[in-house]
Amino acid sequence: MTHAHRVSRAPLTDHLPALRATLHQQRRFRLQQLAELDAEIDRATAPTHAADTARHEVTNKLAVAARQALADVDETLTLITTGRYGHCRGCHTEIPIHLLQTIPTTQWCLNCQQRLPASGSSRPIRTSTFESGSAGDRGVPPRE
Ligand SMILES: [Zn+2]
Repeated sequence: MTHAHRVSRAPLTDHLPALRATLHQQRRFRLQQLAELDAEIDRATAPTHAADTARHEVTNKLAVAARQALADVDETLTLITTGRYGHCRGCHTEIPIHLLQTIPTTQWCLNCQQRLPASGSSRPIRTSTFESGSAGDRGVPPRE
């Protein structure tokens, strides 16, 4: 090899099995969470007390968030299947592996993430490359 000192970028494909395993694990977790939340929603179809109503609302919000997270995981798995995984939706550069390992569902590089509104509701300034109608939280939790 003549390029031994070139900065080596481990190909994304080397990391895909582990990332995919993580995503499937998250998927199972969300499905289980949704099953539990749905069961709770079923049990409380007609809340009669104010406290029950409040709890019901929280449960519904959790279910919405879990469904969104599940959709993000599914979308990410589709991107992997179609070979489009790992590229920023904003600027189309490759997303660093370490970022994908931290947040496998992210579709933004760090630069573009910084341009996301602080509210967390989810879009960078440039939205022209959004192709599908999956609005809402992009599954990019704030980093501590
Ligand atoms: Zn970017």
